[in-house]
Amino acid sequence: MSAPLSHIVIVGGGTAGWMAAAALARVLDTRTIAITLVESEAIGTVGVGEATIPPIQAFNALLGLDESEFLRATRGTAKLGIEFVDWRAQGTRYFHPFGTHGVDFGAIPFEAVWQRARLTGKAAPLEAYSICAEAARLGRFQRPVASGNNPLAHIGYAYHFDAALYAGFLREKAEHWGVRRQEGRIVSVEQAEDGAIAAVALESGARIGADFFIDCSGFRSYLLGDILGVPFEDWGRWLPNDRAVAVPCALGPEGRSPFTRSTARGAGWQWRIPLQHRVGNGLVYASDHCTDVAAETLLLSNIEGAPLGEPRFLRFRAGRRARFWEKNCVALGLASGFLEPLESTSIHLVQAGIARLLEMLPVGGGTPADIRRYNRLMATEFETIRDFLILHFHATSRGDTDYWRRLRTMAVPDALAERLEIYRASGRLYREADELFSKTSWLAVLHGQGIDPRGYDPIADGMPRDEAEARLARIAEVTGLAASRMPSHAAFLRDAAAMQA
Ligand SMILES: Cc1cc2nc3c(=O)[nH]c(=O)nc-3n(C[C@H](O)[C@H](O)[C@H](O)COP(=O)(O)OP(=O)(O)OC[C@H]3O[C@@H](n4cnc5c(N)ncnc54)[C@H](O)[C@@H]3O)c2cc1C
Repeated sequence: MSAPLSHIVIVGGGTAGWMAAAALARVLDTRTIAITLVESEAIGTVGVGEATIPPIQAFNALLGLDESEFLRATRGTAKLGIEFVDWRAQGTRYFHPFGTHGVDFGAIPFEAVWQRARLTGKAAPLEAYSICAEAARLGRFQRPVASGNNPLAHIGYAYHFDAALYAGFLREKAEHWGVRRQEGRIVSVEQAEDGAIAAVALESGARIGADFFIDCSGFRSYLLGDILGVPFEDWGRWLPNDRAVAVPCALGPEGRSPFTRSTARGAGWQWRIPLQHRVGNGLVYASDHCTDVAAETLLLSNIEGAPLGEPRFLRFRAGRRARFWEKNCVALGLASGFLEPLESTSIHLVQAGIARLLEMLPVGGGTPADIRRYNRLMATEFETIRDFLILHFHATSRGDTDYWRRLRTMAVPDALAERLEIYRASGRLYREADELFSKTSWLAVLHGQGIDPRGYDPIADGMPRDEAEARLARIAEVTGLAASRMPSHAAFLRDAAAMQA
């Protein structure tokens, strides 16, 4: 067993760096394991990343954050899912909700029964069975209730928040729990004989030695990529978007809807993320199909209020580092890889890395088996999310631009091709290993993008058709009724976040 750690250095103070610092300081004893975070104000952070997914609640709970305090500090709002507009074809919309569609009937999955009823025209639209989709449509929100047999128990939610405020909020907590922050630009790295990182040196001449390093240096991937030379696997052939332009604007008439909106455009897509005090907007696009000038013009002509700043351009590549943990260094956040923000998964990937690191790190820096396992699990995490994202672009009937024709006809990764083949034949859905997205997510996006199976899973025949149809009708009825009785999202924000209208 390797020696216990005495000092961990985190390079970078963006969302990833401060999430790592706060979680490590909360779990480890900072009197015996020192934690130092180095960041450079001159370099700055990416500063976007405003939409999240439900697992963030577990992360905040690990830190012991009070939800109301968190919402106030980050100017946060609730998120029940994502509305996709113009994705299947121009003029269409669908909702990818958190939570579940209906409930499984014992061993018979909900989707099997729904697909069978859909094929004979006896099912309501899919969204009618989702409390999150129904509540989002009505602008309503509440936290889930504990009782099992009630649609309100199936509310799943996450947050929209100001990423810079979230990093600041976590910084305050982390410093309180013993993390030392060091301002300054790292200009060189000292390596041991075996190539492990021994110390980082700052522009000021200061040297910081440690036995473990967490690279949260952003797209540059300073330690893992530049110093340790771990190559980048480029996934641009499937996810060609490589630019974004972002601008916040004043809240418009639609106000603080409890969901993210993603609107497909000719060569990319646009996000709308309502916070308490503004709306975050951005256009993600492929530079070989759209110029920066055209992207900026398109974005500015499709925002609901006055811009609150100059548009900011960001460049990225879809893909991941071949390994996430190399020697005594783990990369988190953009330093480990990037998948475009279509399903708001980046902050989750940071969290997933931290959770796994915490399982292995306290042993004393990780054994070779730990490192192999970490790299394997994180690779699967990235790849299953990648395939889910590809689905949105590939399963479309849009053919109005070269961009959409290219994506619609591209060859997809084998695992996704297999999943589509199984689903098209039988409607069967499954969750691969520990993958993030549930059957609810796959069903919402597959159906929403216009892919429906030819048949249904025969397990549905375990329930007589008339009984199944009656049960489906009852679920849709109680779901609609429960959503209509929920408080408004505005009321939730007033009560939970003490927000002034
Ligand atoms: C267009 C876009 C939209 C996004 N939207 C979402 C979203 O809705 N939801 C979501 O979950 N995620 C989203 N993300 C991803 C999210 O922004 C990032 O995952 C998150 O901000 C984490 O960034 P980071 O901390 O890894 O890197 P950064 O924010 O880039 O931070 C890097 C840090 O490293 C420091 N640093 C770098 N080099 C040095 C050096 N040599 N010396 C000292 N310090 C150094 C910098 O000063 C900085 O503090 C989005 C990303 C993009 C590009």
